[in-house]
Amino acid sequence: MATSERSGKIQTVVGLIEPEALGITLTHEHMLIDLSYFNHIPDEASERAWLDAPVTMENRNGIIKRTHFNKPDYQMVDEREAFKEVAAFRNAGGTSMVDATSNGIGRDPLALARISRASGLNIVMGSSFYVPASWPTDMATRAEDSITKEIVRDITVGVGDTGVRSGLIGEIGNYWPMTDTQQKVLRASARAQVETGAAILIHPGMVPQSPMEILDVLTRAGAKHDRIIMGHMDLLGDGEMFRDVLKTGSYFEMDIFGYEDSSWLGPGKQKSSTRWMTDAERMDWLEMLVGEGFGKQIVIAHDECLKIHRTQYGGKGYGHILESIVPRMRKRGFTEEHINDILVENPKRILTFE
Ligand SMILES: [Zn+2]
Repeated sequence: MATSERSGKIQTVVGLIEPEALGITLTHEHMLIDLSYFNHIPDEASERAWLDAPVTMENRNGIIKRTHFNKPDYQMVDEREAFKEVAAFRNAGGTSMVDATSNGIGRDPLALARISRASGLNIVMGSSFYVPASWPTDMATRAEDSITKEIVRDITVGVGDTGVRSGLIGEIGNYWPMTDTQQKVLRASARAQVETGAAILIHPGMVPQSPMEILDVLTRAGAKHDRIIMGHMDLLGDGEMFRDVLKTGSYFEMDIFGYEDSSWLGPGKQKSSTRWMTDAERMDWLEMLVGEGFGKQIVIAHDECLKIHRTQYGGKGYGHILESIVPRMRKRGFTEEHINDILVENPKRILTFE
């Protein structure tokens, strides 16, 4: 990889910063995102009344049970609301966030830059593509090289004509089993990693065998393990896979802190929601993995992507980790060094361009 003006720096939506300026960082959030293409129409007439029901405190529990069947919940499209919500993280001492919204799910470079300027928050914006359901219709026939070029342009020139540049490749969305087109997107992203020196963030398929398969495709195309964050590990609670991923040298992300309600069923045969962890279980895992010597590879976040996650609608918000998880980690005996690694040093290392 050729060195560039980005080498040794972190690229936010308002420009390059020194790694030392990053501070406490959540590596997987969404400030603005539209996931409504995920919505399914229920079979039953009375259930269809929920499709467009507004997210209110009164509707909250009914909507959580019907995730995938309520459109307003899947649309975090209000910039003022996003600005108000990030204040909780800022007020609790947080300074930086990755907005992992990739191309095709409402990524909004100019709004992120406005939120960053107004709040003082460092925001690192994503690139590449989310899960296949959100792809442009021509993805199957697109040349691999043209996908790489688009990602490289997002990082080096900026998205479209906004002049706002991505600082990360991801979140790259995957289903399982992998299709040829999905492998093409992964390879194209890996080549963009090699060319730019940016880190990669992965949303794996929702089965324990998916993460290692993805790492294999990425590294065969040239990406380095220590430039990859494997996200959503707490959706796949499988200790054997956790250690397989960590032993490669890749970063390990527990990014659903604050989700403790596993009452939703999900559509079709999807079973992953039946295994969702609580925050106590997330901390159990972190304690065990730090104890095994993996503390320099762990990063955490809330993956706030639905209205129900926001404090305005009764959720825990972006401040939850600093307000509630860190004090409990201290009570459990995590040292300040371990906590600082997870929230500051590890994000800083992975987000700094090669
Ligand atoms: Zn994701």
